[in-house]
Amino acid sequence: MKQGNGPRVTVHSRSSYSIVLRFVQELREIIENLLRTHSWKDAEKFIQQVIWRTYFKGWLEQHPSVWDSYLTGIMRGVREVTSDKNKSRMYQKAITGETGIDCFDSWVGELADHSYLHNHTRLWFASIWIFTLKLPWELGANFFMRHLLDGDPASNTLSWRWVAGLQTAGKTYLAKPDNITKYTDGRFFQSGLATTAQPRTETVTHPRLPAPQTQNYDKAAPTFVLLHDDDMDLSPLVDSFENIVGAVRVSCLERLTPFEMSPAVIEFVETLIKDADHRWFERIGNIHKATSADDIISKALDCAATQIAIPYATVGPTSDFITALKRKAHDSGIGVVSVLSEYDQMCWPKATHGFFRFKEHISQFLRDLNMGP
Ligand SMILES: Cc1cc2nc3c(=O)[nH]c(=O)nc-3n(C[C@H](O)[C@H](O)[C@H](O)COP(=O)(O)OP(=O)(O)OC[C@H]3O[C@@H](n4cnc5c(N)ncnc54)[C@H](O)[C@@H]3O)c2cc1C
Repeated sequence: MKQGNGPRVTVHSRSSYSIVLRFVQELREIIENLLRTHSWKDAEKFIQQVIWRTYFKGWLEQHPSVWDSYLTGIMRGVREVTSDKNKSRMYQKAITGETGIDCFDSWVGELADHSYLHNHTRLWFASIWIFTLKLPWELGANFFMRHLLDGDPASNTLSWRWVAGLQTAGKTYLAKPDNITKYTDGRFFQSGLATTAQPRTETVTHPRLPAPQTQNYDKAAPTFVLLHDDDMDLSPLVDSFENIVGAVRVSCLERLTPFEMSPAVIEFVETLIKDADHRWFERIGNIHKATSADDIISKALDCAATQIAIPYATVGPTSDFITALKRKAHDSGIGVVSVLSEYDQMCWPKATHGFFRFKEHISQFLRDLNMGP
């Protein structure tokens, strides 16, 4: 199977669209199903791929300042490209696919048309953006977040950081013409790419914080549920509370970027939300839209709820919104509980170093969940 203008592909599942929003749950719906029909040996490589995302999520949860630095970097990047005519021109050419670098321009078109790029293409794209076009990496990462259906604060930010030489300090990824030619079946013979990749550096350090855990909560208390589009698997939440008295949903999608989100991404997320709300109707009832923290608290109080329960929102705009909500809810005398899945609680604390150390734990994770080798 050939993926657009990207590499020749043998296996790519495109499962990331659904996994990122937890529309499909990676543990029960992917790994467990896979192990029902495949041996551990046959499934291992794919399971490792799926678990990359778990690793990135867990790592960013423990280093949330990386996300804040990225947000600051976007605004710094905007200032950089608006204050320099040449940079500004180059940035416009990059986002409209008019750089004159054939492969890159064609991938910009592919991203706009399909909202997806193969992993190799993402690597080449990011490398050309940073080292050939010399544009701020944060603007490239944000360009991906606006257009990818699977845009994910952790996988995306940390992958761009890795290409730039920040995630593994000093180790960059350089896109090489012969590699692009080889893996695109000779479609591109690209000249003019950077031949060196000087690592980007940062002055801030990112201390490791403890991995999050579900806090204590009252199972029987009247509970108001707040849903969001980061995690559409509500089973850990509905299994935890016996007395759900109402529910609202909030969307922070457009807070992912200071620019315009791609309509295709918005439409995709809205479709998944409709489906998820329909699937969970019997357990939760009608889910109304909420517009602000005050609106959520007032609706919860109207239902005589004493606590608000939320599927845990990972680092990103929803989690920033929930932090602000927690402060306001506390002042109104209502508790807020974020509920993590068993899988996340078990895996994330191990995402302390690189992926290769993390993946050593996979068999143990699966054994602890009564699955796997
Ligand atoms: C610069 C850059 C930006 C990226 N941005 C994102 C992003 O915003 N969201 C995102 O989900 N992935 C991102 N990735 C990782 C990877 O490219 C995609 O997960 C993968 O291409 C999705 O296609 P697939 O579902 O067909 O993957 P498959 O190859 O079929 O893999 C199966 C699943 O494993 C997970 N996975 C596989 N490889 C990776 C990886 N390297 N990192 C994290 N998870 C992985 C995904 O959930 C994926 O659905 C990025 C990679 C790079 C280099």
